[in-house]
Amino acid sequence: TSSLAMLHQSRKKEKETKKLPLRPIELRSHEIVNGVTGLIGNTPLMRINSLSDALGVEILGKAEFLNPGGSVKDRVALRMIEDAEKLGFLRPHTGSRIFEGTVGSTGISIATIARARGYESTIIMPDDVAEEKVKALLALGAEVERVRPASIVDKKQFVNLAKQRASHFGDTDKFDAPWGAHSYRGLESPSHTMLVSTAANHVDFESNSWETDEEFLSKPRGFFADQFENRSNFDTHFSGTGPEIWRQTNGEIDAFVSGAGTGGTLAGTGRYLKTVNEDVLVAVSDPEGSGLFNKVKYGVMFDRREAEGTKRRHQVDTVVEGIGINRLTHNFELALPIVDDAFRITDPEAVAMSRFLVKHDGLFLGSSSACNLMACVKLVKKMGWEGTGKHVVTILCDSGTRHYSKFWSDDYLRKAEIPVDLSARRRSTEKT
Ligand code: PMP
Repeated sequence: TSSLAMLHQSRKKEKETKKLPLRPIELRSHEIVNGVTGLIGNTPLMRINSLSDALGVEILGKAEFLNPGGSVKDRVALRMIEDAEKLGFLRPHTGSRIFEGTVGSTGISIATIARARGYESTIIMPDDVAEEKVKALLALGAEVERVRPASIVDKKQFVNLAKQRASHFGDTDKFDAPWGAHSYRGLESPSHTMLVSTAANHVDFESNSWETDEEFLSKPRGFFADQFENRSNFDTHFSGTGPEIWRQTNGEIDAFVSGAGTGGTLAGTGRYLKTVNEDVLVAVSDPEGSGLFNKVKYGVMFDRREAEGTKRRHQVDTVVEGIGINRLTHNFELALPIVDDAFRITDPEAVAMSRFLVKHDGLFLGSSSACNLMACVKLVKKMGWEGTGKHVVTILCDSGTRHYSKFWSDDYLRKAEIPVDLSARRRSTEKT
C-alpha cells in the first residue's frame, strides 16, 4: 500500500494525462449482433491512466467486465457450449441441462448462454461466495446448489458434485466420463486435443450429432461443462483473447499479467502471445492462500514458507474471489511451461488497489482485477521499467458490482481486519 501512496504522489505531479496515439476508430461491432451471445468478446483494451502516468509504463486492461454476463467467463462458457453442440452432445430446446461447479462467474455465464440457446442449467457453488452472484443466478433461472467449501478429494466438493449430478441426469446408463482424462496432455495441437477433452467431459460419451431431435428429446442430456479440465477453456483464449490483445496493441506488448482460477485465461492468452513473440513476459498474480505462486517459484503447490497461507484457501470466505487455487488443473498445467514469474498479492494490497482505481480513474472493479493490476505494478518495479513506456497488459475480469457484499463491503473488510481508504467517497458519507 505504501507503493500506492507513492504512485499517488507522482500522479499528482503529472498534470496532463498522456495522449494516446490516434488510431483508426474501431467499433466493437460494425453490424447488428445476433442476440446476447453476439455481445461476447471483442472487448476494448483500456489504458489505466493513473497507473500508466505514475509509472511511465502503459498499463492496459482488457475490459472483460463489459461482457453481457459481466465477466471474462462468458467467452469460456460460450466456447464450451458451442464445442459441445458441434460434437453433438447438446442440442437446443431438447431439455438438455448443463451442470457446472463454479465460484460464480462461470455459472452466471453458463446460465445466461443456456437461456439464450434453450438449455437448463444447474450451478453448484461454495456457500461462502458473494451473495449477489447467487441472486444473479436465480434471476437467470438457474438451479443453484450451495455446498460447504471442501478439498478436491472430497466427494462433496462443488466441482465433484456437479459431475455427479450430471452423471445422474437423463440417460445415466451410458455415463462414462473419467475426468482429467487420458490423452489430452499434449500441448501441440489445441484444436485436435480439444475434441478429446470435450468428449471426455461429456456424460454421454457415445452420443452423436446425427441423432434426430426425437431421439434427443426422448433422453434429456446432462452435460458437465468442467471448466477446470475442459480444453475449450484454453482454446477460447488462445483463439480470441490473445489475438485481440495482439491486434489492439499493434504487437507492442512487453508483459502479460493474469490471475488463475482454472488457468484458462493465463494459459490460452499467454501461450498465444508467446507464439507471436516469445519475448513477451508472462506473469501470474496470485492472491493470499493460493498455491500457484509456490508452484511457479519453487515447483511445489504446498510449501512450508506459505503453510499458513495455503491453508486458508481450503477454508471459507476468501476476500479475493475467482483466482487462486491449490491444485494443478489441466488448464493451469498448460500455462506452466510459459509462465516466467509470479507475484503474491495480499488481501490488503488488492483492497487498496481497488480503492485507488475508483479514486483516480472512476474504475470500479472486482477483486481479481485489483490483484492483477497490483501485480502489474510489482512487475514494473521489479523489472525496473519505470519511465520506459513499455506496455503491460492485464485482464479486468469483472466489475465491483459482483462484490458489494464482500470485497466492496466496509463491514466485511473491517471484520477481516483489512484497512480501507474511504477518502474517495468522503463527500457522500459525510453528514451535512
Ligand atoms: N476473475 C474472476 C472474477 C473469475 O471468476 C475467474 C474465473 N474463476 C478468473 C478471474 C480467473 O480466470 P481463469 O479461470 O481463466 O483462470
